[in-house]
Amino acid sequence: MFRKILIANRGEIACRVIDTCRRMGVATVAVYSDADRDARHVALADEAVHLGGPAPKDSYLRGDAIIKAARDTGAEAIHPGYGFLSENPDFVDAVEAAGLVFIGPSAKAIRAMGLKDAAKALMEKAGVPVVPGYHGADQDPDHLAQQAEKIGYPVLIKAVAGGGGKGMRRVDDAKDFSDALASARSEAQNAFGNPDVLIEKYILQPRHIEVQVFGDGVRAVHLFERDCSLQRRHQKVIEEAPAPDMPAQVRKVMGAAAVRAAEAIGYKGAGTIEFIVDGADGLREDGFWFMEMNTRLQVEHPVTELITGVDLVEWQLRVASGEMLPAKQADLSITGHAFEARLYAEDVPAGFLPATGTLAHLQFPDHARIETGVRPGDTISPWYDPMIAKIVTYGPTRAIALRALETALFDTEVAGSVTNLEFLIALTRHEGFRRGEVDTGLIGRDLDDLIAGSEPDPRTLALGALGVAGLEDPDTRAGVTLWQPLRRTVTWEGGAAVIEAMGPGRADVTLDGTTHEVRQQGGRWWVDGSPRRSRVVRHAAGVSVFGGRSVTLKPLDPLDVAGEEAGDALTLSPMPGLVKAVFVEPGQQVAAGDRLAILEAMKMEHTLTAARDGVVAEVLAAAGDQVEAGAALIRLEEDDEAAA
Ligand code: ADP
Ligand code: ADP
Ligand code: MG
Repeated sequence: MFRKILIANRGEIACRVIDTCRRMGVATVAVYSDADRDARHVALADEAVHLGGPAPKDSYLRGDAIIKAARDTGAEAIHPGYGFLSENPDFVDAVEAAGLVFIGPSAKAIRAMGLKDAAKALMEKAGVPVVPGYHGADQDPDHLAQQAEKIGYPVLIKAVAGGGGKGMRRVDDAKDFSDALASARSEAQNAFGNPDVLIEKYILQPRHIEVQVFGDGVRAVHLFERDCSLQRRHQKVIEEAPAPDMPAQVRKVMGAAAVRAAEAIGYKGAGTIEFIVDGADGLREDGFWFMEMNTRLQVEHPVTELITGVDLVEWQLRVASGEMLPAKQADLSITGHAFEARLYAEDVPAGFLPATGTLAHLQFPDHARIETGVRPGDTISPWYDPMIAKIVTYGPTRAIALRALETALFDTEVAGSVTNLEFLIALTRHEGFRRGEVDTGLIGRDLDDLIAGSEPDPRTLALGALGVAGLEDPDTRAGVTLWQPLRRTVTWEGGAAVIEAMGPGRADVTLDGTTHEVRQQGGRWWVDGSPRRSRVVRHAAGVSVFGGRSVTLKPLDPLDVAGEEAGDALTLSPMPGLVKAVFVEPGQQVAAGDRLAILEAMKMEHTLTAARDGVVAEVLAAAGDQVEAGAALIRLEEDDEAAA
């Protein structure tokens, strides 16, 4: 076994590889960019080497610098993770030329699978079913149009060099073919420097089912399948293993085809054979076709680990260091069911736009497997994939594992960036998904329902308002006092509420004219008579309510609050502080904007001014008083009071 390896990656996958190395007594060298100086993977590794600027081309794609770092630190092998250099055969050649071991397949195997057309031709020869279509060399548009006609519409145009869904066009009608072809070719040219395409039959109601394979360069075994049909724009969102409703016989035939594919190219290490499957009428032995091979560890490999009990990274290290395959096919079996959800920093209502931010609060449940590259206080930068974590659950049955995923998502707390957490929760509750009726169109079809929960829910907001008022914790000494009968207005960016404390642990919160009864009892929150799994947490970015429906409120700057109160008779203390001076007395006439009092808070003096013209009815605080946020300081007479 190696004594020390270098991990040429970042984020959760670098951390994941380090975990196994630690368990096996293998020392680790991390590499990092300027953006990742304080990253979790750097902190976890035994040593770390700086590569360069934050852009991948200046750091994680610099094969020469990475190889030099390995040699300088005495690492014997390089683990590429996924993405970056993991599928770059020239890098593999350079690693080997430097006398180091690449933990993965040979450059030759990667090249064989690098282009989709060549890979399909190779697989056809090896007796692996491929998607019906044209993957020949003739790229003449008229010829391609003829081929599409022959295949029969709908068809899918794919860039032969494609990946990540780029250069792909579905065409339903012959009249649209030439435009779609032109745009697929130009996208492929831009993204991959190669405009060539292939044409496939578009499978209606497709499922994406992939088989995990593992080879030692000669022989290969498979570790069963994963179903990755829950996709948005050809990108995986939730994965599971095994595939729902997979007949034993179809599993056997698909596994054997995947092993044939791996052995045909002398595959070494962990790889994935992706199949497109016709799910219209149950899974059939003649209803699956090879799409592509990913010659690396896959993002979703943990679900396979949970159902097989195999640590795939351990196997990668053992085989790369010269051991035989750690198990025979007959030794491998499936126990239970596993799910993985990809938690991303992304703005779902804005069309799943990647987001950034500093994670002011981050907490994961301890009853799920969490793969993450970030800690509380870390930043999701614009430079890399905005994944926050993979949340992976296991259960003896699919239904139990899916419930466990739902609960794990409920118990996940992220503040400081928007995330797709609620979208993931909505997916775990989708009726069809619960029944195991998955296909790659599911998310697209039901998108409106799946993101309907993105609007803040009033009961969650009511809890957030209590947090903004500092009343989230009635157990503290301050809390008990604060929950004495009292009425106050609280304001945050985009909203406000009136809170009426009805005694210890009970308050009425009025939002948009609706009053919600909030109770804290038996260590949990009750809103309008129902218990909620919510937690109210205060952090650097504001106040968050977590637990299914979550929301983060940013309390307003005190001076803005004074503005928000315009038209109100009450001047409230915008924050806890010390009253330094009061300039008015009852009966005094004031004009809008006149100084009423000075509050010292957070080492600054804040001048509170009259929101409108009027007559002072009451002065409720005096210089030297310590006041809480929301405390009434000065009340102006109401118009009718003045008239009386
Ligand atoms: P597929 O490409 O078939 O969807 P995966 O789900 O394993 O297979 O996707 C992994 C891809 O996501 C990588 O190839 C890479 O392009 C991208 N990716 C995600 N996270 C990272 C990361 N931390 N570093 C580099 N690339 C990443
Ligand atoms: P990439 O390299 O971008 O991962 P793939 O060939 O793996 O490209 O296809 C990505 C996704 O596109 C699949 O997971 C599937 O959802 C869809 N897809 C691919 N080929 C077909 C097909 N022939 N019919 C229907 N859907 C397809
Ligand atoms: Mg793919």
